[in-house]
Amino acid sequence: MKFYFPDSQDQVSPTYDFIHDEYSPLRVRQRDDRYAHEVLAQPAYQGLLVSKAIVDGTIQGVGKYSMPQRQRLYRLGVRGFFRLPDDVVTLGDCGAFTYVNEPEPPYSVNEVIDFYSRCGFDAGVSIDHVILGYRRPGSNGEDIPEDWKERRLISLHFAEKFLAAVHDHGTPFEPVGAAQGWDPDSYADSVKQLQDMGYRRVALGGMVPLKTPDIVACLAAIAGIRVPETELHLLGITRIESMNEFAELGVTSFDSTSSFRQSFMDDRDNYHTTDTTYSAIRVPQVDGNISLKKAILAGKVAQADAVVAERESLKRLRDYEAKKCSLKAALNAVLAYEELLGVKKSYADMYGRTLKDAPWRICECGLCAKHGIEMVIFRGSERNKRRGFHNLSVLADKMKSLHAASPRLERIASG
Ligand SMILES: [Zn+2]
Repeated sequence: MKFYFPDSQDQVSPTYDFIHDEYSPLRVRQRDDRYAHEVLAQPAYQGLLVSKAIVDGTIQGVGKYSMPQRQRLYRLGVRGFFRLPDDVVTLGDCGAFTYVNEPEPPYSVNEVIDFYSRCGFDAGVSIDHVILGYRRPGSNGEDIPEDWKERRLISLHFAEKFLAAVHDHGTPFEPVGAAQGWDPDSYADSVKQLQDMGYRRVALGGMVPLKTPDIVACLAAIAGIRVPETELHLLGITRIESMNEFAELGVTSFDSTSSFRQSFMDDRDNYHTTDTTYSAIRVPQVDGNISLKKAILAGKVAQADAVVAERESLKRLRDYEAKKCSLKAALNAVLAYEELLGVKKSYADMYGRTLKDAPWRICECGLCAKHGIEMVIFRGSERNKRRGFHNLSVLADKMKSLHAASPRLERIASG
């Protein structure tokens, strides 16, 4: 099972100064900043997924690349641009969720093939159009919206044109057909049609909102028509507890940003370990916190008090790490700042647990040993992204233990 990490230009600066919270004046972003695969002690992903919409931008402006970055990607190719090790494979796609509200995908087959070829991807997904809805089998009486049927046909039509063009141009990347559907039968029919066209790799799209049993139901229906050589990729899905079952139903790869993004998007599960999750400790920067700024402007909080509480929180946390103060003293400093911030529901218990267990002290991701308690401080992108990278490394560990736990997969692996 291969895990592809979806690129969103997430990098960290190795020379960032955590004590003064500033970048080195000598930092040159494109030269010095590092991707997850360059700073983690062990490889965390076997593949990198890059979406055309993230690189080229869309009408809604979801692009993450500046003009010079885009030009450099095209010039150096995906492997050179990301400084990828040889064993990490690359997959391009269109980023169908970014144009889900448009009546049709905004790209032509030639534009997409040009993107995949110029960047030198190992494989590329055909243009598809996400169906925003799912019907459980047996939920009769509801007609399937015309729009859903149309989106499935649009995806199949593009897949056919894409494969024909790939064959005509003799492009160097492996074509991957995108399958959309709204229930097990429609997904299975899409996969069957893609197989009949000649695809031997199929990416299943639009499943992100689906409950795990619904994904399994779709995979089971697909298993009924799938030829043994056809490999399945789950777009945007990590359900670690079901990965063995997915593998038995033909899934050989998946991608997801959720482990990474939970480090700074989740309300509590920010720092992962192989058997639990912890809350990161919020110590926002006074200048960077919008609600705090409002409170200061409204005269509810004195700016000087906020700055003192912020500094005291960081100092106490570092003292705790250096065994120069007690857990209680560190926690009290953080909670005093929390109160000043006007947090509605206190994180006291969760923070206490994080500090008591101190999971970063035994982590071998490579970043925790280097940055210590900074890894669990929820503050600014340099800390938050490092914690996200750490989570990727934990996901890799979980995947390894899954493989070890599955005798069937071991049999497959040993041929
Ligand atoms: Zn770690």
